[in-house]
Amino acid sequence: MARIGILSDVHGNRPALDAVFSHAGECDTWWCAGDTVGYGPYPDECALMLEGVGAASVAGNHDLGAIGSISLESFNSLAREACRWTGARLGVEVRAYLDSLPPVLETAPDTVLVHGSYTDPVWEYVLSATRARNNFEAYAHRLCFNGHSHVPVVFTRGPGGDIDTIIPTDGARIALEEDIRYMVNAGSVGQPRDGDPRACYIIYNTDEEVLFYHRVEYPVAETQARIIEEGLPRLLAERIAHGR
Ligand code: ZN
Repeated sequence: MARIGILSDVHGNRPALDAVFSHAGECDTWWCAGDTVGYGPYPDECALMLEGVGAASVAGNHDLGAIGSISLESFNSLAREACRWTGARLGVEVRAYLDSLPPVLETAPDTVLVHGSYTDPVWEYVLSATRARNNFEAYAHRLCFNGHSHVPVVFTRGPGGDIDTIIPTDGARIALEEDIRYMVNAGSVGQPRDGDPRACYIIYNTDEEVLFYHRVEYPVAETQARIIEEGLPRLLAERIAHGR
């Protein structure tokens, strides 16, 4: 059987990633939907941890912004400032690692991994049934895992084309059905924005075809202290306490 850990948007928050790894225990593999760096004060550490567990990962907008692969013009001023800080700090090895990440990755048969969406892997937020519908029409895979919005949500497309929305909370168990297609947002490890500050991740049991959503507490104060110490914007320390 395969037990796959799926996560996204770590955003340089090492204490949060530590908590997720120890909560998850042994996994056969990890899939990461991007934005491993940016905003948070531990970009190198987080990238090396994911590389260390052999995670299959795609590039997020912050990963690309930090290494200068995309223009910082499209970022808001807070994100831009954090991208500049991250870019100035990244080590050579991590820079090369981030540069090697593809925008779209087939992680298993009929399964695809992106950061934002399939139609716009780097930038699109899929937060509505309409956007989900457009995406379902653009690819053929049964399963698509994404991140970017920092909001855990599952869109399903039934055989007749009807779109349903599931908002998964801590402990949610989603049994995958054969004739339904899924777009699964893994939420965010390092900067959740759904009002729950706990780190979010998924365990995918491929034998039973079940997804489990988990929320994990971590020492938020440790990350906050480091954000302030490093001179990153204060707002970045404040928001992780509220999950906004
Ligand atoms: Zn992000």
